[in-house]
Amino acid sequence: MLKFFGKGSAFADDNTCAYFKDGKDMILIDFSLEAFPKFRKIDFDGIETIYILITHTHGDHISGIGTLIHYAYFILKLPVIIVSPTPKIMEHMTYLFDKLEGCHKDAYSIVLTENFHKHWFIDAIPTIHAETHTGNCFGYGLLVKNNLVVYTGDTNTLEPFITFLKSQNIDCKYLYTEISAYNKDVHLYIEDNLDILLALQEQGVNIYVMHLDDEQKISSIIKGTDLKIVDTQP
Ligand SMILES: [Zn+2]
Ligand SMILES: [Zn+2]
Repeated sequence: MLKFFGKGSAFADDNTCAYFKDGKDMILIDFSLEAFPKFRKIDFDGIETIYILITHTHGDHISGIGTLIHYAYFILKLPVIIVSPTPKIMEHMTYLFDKLEGCHKDAYSIVLTENFHKHWFIDAIPTIHAETHTGNCFGYGLLVKNNLVVYTGDTNTLEPFITFLKSQNIDCKYLYTEISAYNKDVHLYIEDNLDILLALQEQGVNIYVMHLDDEQKISSIIKGTDLKIVDTQP
C-alpha cells in the first residue's frame, strides 16, 4: 500500500518515511533529509499537490521538509500542504519553515488535522513516544486504494492503533508499525510486542514493520512468521 524512501530509525543508515499517491495528490508521512535524492526521482506526472502528514518533530521525521518545500516551489512548481495534528506542532513547524528554512510564504501552508478533509484521510491517532513530546506524537489512519492503512509513527504502545483498527469497518486492513530490536522505553521492543502482532495477524491484519534500529536482528526474530519488513525505493 505504502512506498518507502527509508525504513531505519534515527541512528540507522536511512530514516523511515513513506508515501502514496491518490489521483492528483501525493501524500508523504514525515520526510527526512536523507530521503531527498529518492524523492527527486519520483514521477510527478499528474500530481497537483504534495501533502505531508507530520507524526512528531524529531529530526529523523522532519529534517527534509524545508528542502522539499523549496524544491516543490522553485523546481516542481507544486504547492505543499503540511498537515499538523496539534497547534503546538503547527507553531513549531511554522517557526522552522518561516524563520530557519526561510521558505517562501506562497510555497506552503499548514493545516490542522481537525480542519483537514480528504477522502484518503481518516484520522490522526494520538500515541505515547518521547516524554519531551508528550501530547504531540501521532500515527495516522488512512484509506489507500480502499484499504485501511494504520501507520504508527514512533510509539511505545500498540494500544491506540489496535483500538483504531478494530473501530474501522473496512475489510482489508494494513498495519505499518515501528519496531525495535533494543529495549528502550520510547519504542516498541520486539520481544514484548511480537505475540501481540502475531495475534493481530491471526485476525486478518496485514503487518509490516519499519523504523528499524537493527534490521538483521529483527529479520532473524520474525523469520518464519508472516510479518514483513517494508521494502524501500532504490
Ligand atoms: Zn523516529
Ligand atoms: Zn521519535
